[in-house]
Amino acid sequence: MAKRINQDRCIQCGVCLEECPNNGISEVDGEYRIDSGLCTECFGFYKTSHCVDICPVEAIETDPDQEVEEDLLIGRSADLHPERFPRS
Ligand code: SF4
Ligand code: SF4
Repeated sequence: MAKRINQDRCIQCGVCLEECPNNGISEVDGEYRIDSGLCTECFGFYKTSHCVDICPVEAIETDPDQEVEEDLLIGRSADLHPERFPRS
């Protein structure tokens, strides 16, 4: 499942912004958001969701509206990083 940022908890520290391997985190007018279409739960880069691990206030959570199969996350990773995950 993709991750999302709980706006009530986020303190806008910006730590997560540059840490997503898919550039899936952005900031607009001081509000940090995750593009669910770019979130792969860090498949192929980290064993766990990196943004969740580094957020100092545990503001990043699983988005229950973005439940996707592992195959989709793997396919998304291959689309985003074809050099790293070449399709056979
Ligand atoms: S879980 Fe990984 S891929 Fe998803 S938004 Fe966080 S850092 Fe990016
Ligand atoms: S690391 Fe956490 S508190 Fe900081 S901007 Fe990202 S979600 Fe918000």
